[in-house]
Amino acid sequence: MKDLNKILEAISFAADRHRNQTRKGISKIPYINHPIRVAKILTDVGENEMELLIAAILHDVIEDTTKSQEEIKALSNVILSKFGEEVLFTVLEVSDNKSLPVEERKRLQVIHTPDLSERAKKLKIADKISNIEDIRKDPPENWEQKRKLAYLDWAKQVAEGAIGLNKKLDQYFDQVYNETYSYLKSVN
Ligand code: ZN
Repeated sequence: MKDLNKILEAISFAADRHRNQTRKGISKIPYINHPIRVAKILTDVGENEMELLIAAILHDVIEDTTKSQEEIKALSNVILSKFGEEVLFTVLEVSDNKSLPVEERKRLQVIHTPDLSERAKKLKIADKISNIEDIRKDPPENWEQKRKLAYLDWAKQVAEGAIGLNKKLDQYFDQVYNETYSYLKSVN
């Protein structure tokens, strides 16, 4: 019951932080659908550790709902007091430094992922699975096939640095990657 309460608190907190945001896709679905999906992917493959699931629900709040170092610090303190240091550490591990250009951030994700904690690695794979699903089901309007395929390639490079901890999760990534790759090629 205590765990359930924490999960719901995390969903409520993330929903509030992301309240004015939508996903990049044409349908403009609420942003919160994505972190909930990431946590669900993890439970689907047998992951049930509270810190991991709460970090999954909160994984984009620092990267996507802060604009300055001060805001990051303030939000980190809130996460620390509400959800503890394990959760905060994991969320910070998977947060890109937004002051860097997008291409550099992407390059760094590939380089740094093998050095992440086990929790952060699992979260990374689930995050990429959800993003690939969205690219197939609800892609951004201006993304051409080439850009979608480039995203897939990059996501695979990141995931390759994180595999080996949960076989079902690794297989889930491969399945979604392969299906989406074939689908994109077939409509190309
Ligand atoms: Zn995400």
